[in-house]
Amino acid sequence: MSPTRSRPLRDLLRVKPGSTFRLADIDPAETHGRDKEASLATLQTGLERLSELQDKLWAEAKHPVLVVLQGIDTAGKGGTLKHVMGAFQPAGCSVTSFKVPTAPELAHDYLWRIHQRTPGKGEIGVFDRSHYEDVLIVRVHDIVPKERWSRRFDHINDWEKMLADEGTTIVKFFLWISKDEQRERLQARLDEPDKRWKFRLGDLDERKRWDEYVAAYDEALERCSTDHAPWYVIPANRKWFRNLAVTEILGDTIAALKPVYPKPPEDLTGVTVE
Ligand code: AMP
Ligand code: MG
Repeated sequence: MSPTRSRPLRDLLRVKPGSTFRLADIDPAETHGRDKEASLATLQTGLERLSELQDKLWAEAKHPVLVVLQGIDTAGKGGTLKHVMGAFQPAGCSVTSFKVPTAPELAHDYLWRIHQRTPGKGEIGVFDRSHYEDVLIVRVHDIVPKERWSRRFDHINDWEKMLADEGTTIVKFFLWISKDEQRERLQARLDEPDKRWKFRLGDLDERKRWDEYVAAYDEALERCSTDHAPWYVIPANRKWFRNLAVTEILGDTIAALKPVYPKPPEDLTGVTVE
């Protein structure tokens, strides 16, 4: 058994605020001593725990929780949404998939469209892509000049700090796959009829910029992992480990809020239903 087996993934996968960080130091196939067969039962228990925690969070209506999901194409954002966020009852959960900004969105600052989608008290708001695209694709494709995007790390930290100060719990996941794994997944999208709809020719151009994306992620993860809004890098070559890790970290994050069912607003002593 690996010596790291009993350490929570929350500690193992967090990008330490203020430290130097390079994705190259992290193996996308790492499983931290977890075993696939044994982990299936752990995942099931973890999903049930998430579901219970969310029920209380929603009932209590006290804490907003913001979950950011980022990853290179095919890293598994969709799969994570389906398998992990699937544990949530839809009423208390919103998912926003941020696409290429529309004209009205481009007419505003880059955080404008993001802020409109942040969760309210008791809600879990999941961002499938996020404001981080504004220091990732925007940087890699020179959509705005460096002097503009390079100031955004500070804006983002300040904005996330403001949300946290006002009560939002923020947790950010970067799903990390290898370049080889991406080739296999893109090829599968081409080959399998039920995946073909996801394929874009542009994905191949993006793949050519792999190293530039990694450099952009390195800087974003290093500069924007903070105590109030930590980044977790999830080794995601193995889908079972990815699901397990996100489930466990999300569960621990929500559990730390200690959500409880609220007392009924009125005194119900002696009340019966005829
Ligand atoms: P998908 O997630 O596969 O549906 O693709 C959404 C596309 O929108 C991706 O290519 C993103 O990089 C792109 N996108 C998201 N946010 C931005 C942004 N702020 N600026 C430019 N492109 C973006
Ligand atoms: Mg895509």
